[in-house]
Amino acid sequence: MYLPAEKTKKLIPYQPIQGEYRVRLDANESFLLPTEEDRIAMASAAANVAFNRYPDPMAAGLCADFAELYGISPEYVTAGNGSDEIISIIYYALLEKGEKVLTLTPDFSMYAFYSSIAETECISLSKGEDMAVDVDLVLDTIKKEKIRMVIFSNPCNPTSLGLAADDVRRLITGTDALVVVDEAYMDFWDQSLIKEAHEYQNLVLLRTCSKALGLAALRVGFAVANKTLTRILKAAKSPYNVNAVSQEMARVVLKNPLYRTVYTEILITSRNMLIDGLRRLESQRLIEKVYESRTNFAFIKLQDSEEVFKFLFDNGIIVRNIGKNHLRITAGREEENKEVISAIAAYLCKKRGVDCYEDRCLFAKNQGN
Ligand SMILES: *Cc1c(COP(=O)(O)O)cnc(C)c1O
Repeated sequence: MYLPAEKTKKLIPYQPIQGEYRVRLDANESFLLPTEEDRIAMASAAANVAFNRYPDPMAAGLCADFAELYGISPEYVTAGNGSDEIISIIYYALLEKGEKVLTLTPDFSMYAFYSSIAETECISLSKGEDMAVDVDLVLDTIKKEKIRMVIFSNPCNPTSLGLAADDVRRLITGTDALVVVDEAYMDFWDQSLIKEAHEYQNLVLLRTCSKALGLAALRVGFAVANKTLTRILKAAKSPYNVNAVSQEMARVVLKNPLYRTVYTEILITSRNMLIDGLRRLESQRLIEKVYESRTNFAFIKLQDSEEVFKFLFDNGIIVRNIGKNHLRITAGREEENKEVISAIAAYLCKKRGVDCYEDRCLFAKNQGN
């Protein structure tokens, strides 16, 4: 009788909350579509794909457009079916079974997931109450535990905090372990190492089109690393990992600087509005803490996180419950931000029997729907 491998026993499919909800603030997606002009150009690019042929295995045009947009050389760039796929390639191509990987928790859940599939040993270093990354402690842990690879997101999902470029440099140069810096949200901050990534012998930097660039549906991500590591990633990936339609459609968006300027500014403005609203709740002591956000989402601490999550859910507002009294809320459209802030305020004010200063009009109106 066939028995699947032991390591597969606890596997469960990734199950995001699906279905129709009024306000979706759970997946850190952009709330903006590409411009109508670009969507037409994307449709036309897709229509002109040679459907009977395999795509370019190296996605050379796509990598060149990405490199051009970020001001780097394309020889250091590898394209993936989302940066998620590149994370999995890193695990199976650059690590041996049983080698130790360090994660800094809380962080992106996929790091531990791919570690278990690749049968590497995942060691997690818990961040303190302030959720900051202590570079010296990370370096000490790498040495003590004989870590082969450390992987973390910067800015961090879910904490929304950023580690300054100089601290990241200190980490990379302070160890011989491979350092994987996932810059999925770096379009929202200015501390990227993308321009110097190829200068390090032990760095793989990850970027994605899924967040600021608003192309989550296409599944396009990139690794930036020196020539040796790039060669390995390109050799280890499956040959046609990025389909031709996604390559061509993403190129339209990467060729237009608007998304990294105007669109990203709009998303940052929305984030600031969300953070300001949540800070009002913090100053009224309704919630405990709003972390400083370098991303397009807010990370908050509140005693009543489970109840608040459920209350929002019951009212058609989806956010991410991180556990341990933390919620992660993606910045949305102005009305969406207002609504989530008002809903949290309304629930907590009622529970504590205090007056609510938030404008509840929107929320009250929509509740009747
Ligand atoms: C969203 C996210 C990604 C996912 O990127 P894809 O390119 O869509 O696979 C990677 N890393 C982090 C930290 C993310 O939050």
